[in-house]
Amino acid sequence: MAAVTVSRQAIDTIRRGHPWIYRSNVVHISASSSAPNTAGAIVQILDQEKRRVGAGVLDLASSPLAVRVWTSDPDETLDARLFRARLEAAIGIRRRLFDDRETTAYRLLNGEGDRAPAFVVDRYADVAVLRMDGQAAESVAATLLRDIESPLRAIGVATLLSRGVPEKGKPPIVTPIFGPIREKVEVREHGVPFLVDLVRGQKTGAFLDQRENRRRIGELIKRRVGSSSSATPARVLNLFSYTGGFSVRAALAGGIVTSVDVAAAAHATAQESFRLASIDPRAHAFSTADAFQFLERAAKEEKTWDVVISDPPSFAPNAQSKPKAIAAYRALHRACVNVLAPHGTFVAASCSSHISAEDFMTTLDDASLGRSDLRVLELHGPPADHPTLPTFFEGRYLKLAILE
Ligand code: SAH
Repeated sequence: MAAVTVSRQAIDTIRRGHPWIYRSNVVHISASSSAPNTAGAIVQILDQEKRRVGAGVLDLASSPLAVRVWTSDPDETLDARLFRARLEAAIGIRRRLFDDRETTAYRLLNGEGDRAPAFVVDRYADVAVLRMDGQAAESVAATLLRDIESPLRAIGVATLLSRGVPEKGKPPIVTPIFGPIREKVEVREHGVPFLVDLVRGQKTGAFLDQRENRRRIGELIKRRVGSSSSATPARVLNLFSYTGGFSVRAALAGGIVTSVDVAAAAHATAQESFRLASIDPRAHAFSTADAFQFLERAAKEEKTWDVVISDPPSFAPNAQSKPKAIAAYRALHRACVNVLAPHGTFVAASCSSHISAEDFMTTLDDASLGRSDLRVLELHGPPADHPTLPTFFEGRYLKLAILE
C-alpha cells in the first residue's frame, strides 16, 4: 500500500477528527509499481517516526487536498467492509430520524459528516442516488462500494443510481448501480408531496438540506395568516425558487406566492408539485427571470411582499471569491428588504461553505440593508440528516436567517 507521511500539525488535525489532509502538510508520499500513488489509491497515513496513524484515499495530484481521511485508528483497514459499516451507522441514525414515514426524501449518507468522505447518498422513496465528490472517489468506488446493495435493499431501496458531476452546460450522467433506472419520483416531506426529477434536477435531484427550513417557513406564514384580523392571505416572494420547495409550503400555509427562478424547467416541476399538493398553480405567479433584475423592476413599480425568501446558489465557489460573494449577498439582501412590506418577514439563506455564519450576518446588518428596524429572530443550519463533524466547519455550509 502506498504511504503518506504527514507533518505533526496534520496528525493533530486528524486526531481531532478533521477528514482532510492538505498537500502543504504532506512530508512525503511513497509508492511502488504495485502500490501506485495515483488519485483514488488507498493509502496508509504515517507520522514522521513512520508510525501508522490512519488510512485514507489519495486525491488528485493537482488538488490542494492530498488525502481524505477515513480512519484515525491505526489498526483499522480501509476496505468495502469499513464503507459498509459507515453506511449502516448512517442508516441507523436516519431510521430513528424518519420513523414516522411522513418524510421519504432525506440524506442517507453525508460524506465527511458521516465519516465517509466524498460519498453522498440521498434517498428518494425507493430510489437512492449516489454522488461522488471528485475523480479520486470515482476511482476508489469499485473497491469500496462492493458491499452496499444489501444494506440499501434492507431499507427498501430498489434502485441505486450514480450521478456524475455534469460538465458545464451538459446534463449530468446518470447510471444505475442496481435496479431499474428511474427518472421522476414522488416523495413526501413531513407529509407534503413533491415531485423530484432525478435525471435533470440539480445535485442529486432536490435540495434536501432545506427541508426543516421549508417547514419552519410554512408555519411562520400560517401564524401570519392566522393572526391577521382580516384573514388576508400573506403575499410571499420566493426568489431562486427552483422546484418550488418553499413555494409549496408557503401556498399550503395560505400564502399567495410569486416564485422567481431563471430556469423555466424548474417552474414546470414546481407546478407539478403544486398540483400534487392539491394547490392550483394558476392562483400563484411563476416568473422566469434573473432575481436581481426582478427585484429592481419590482422596486420601481413599488411592489411589496409580506414575506421575502432568498435562497440563491453559492456565490463563493472558492476562498478567493469570498469578498465578491459578500458584496453580492449585501446587494441582494438590500434589494430584498426594499420590496418588504411594513412588518414583513425576510428569510435569507446562503449555501456557500466559504461564508461563515458570522460573515453571513455582516451581509444582513444595518449598513448592508440600509435600514435599522430589522432583527434576527432565528438562525438555522443544516438538518440532522446532514450531520457534521465539530472540526469540519465546511460541512456547516447552510445558513438561514429569519428577520423581522
Ligand atoms: N430554494 C430552493 C433551492 C434553490 S437552488 C429549494 O428549496 O429547493 C438555486 C436556484 O437558483 C436554482 O434553481 C437556479 O436555477 C436559480 N438561479 C441561479 N441564478 C439565478 C438568478 N440570477 N436569478 C434567479 N434564479 C437563479
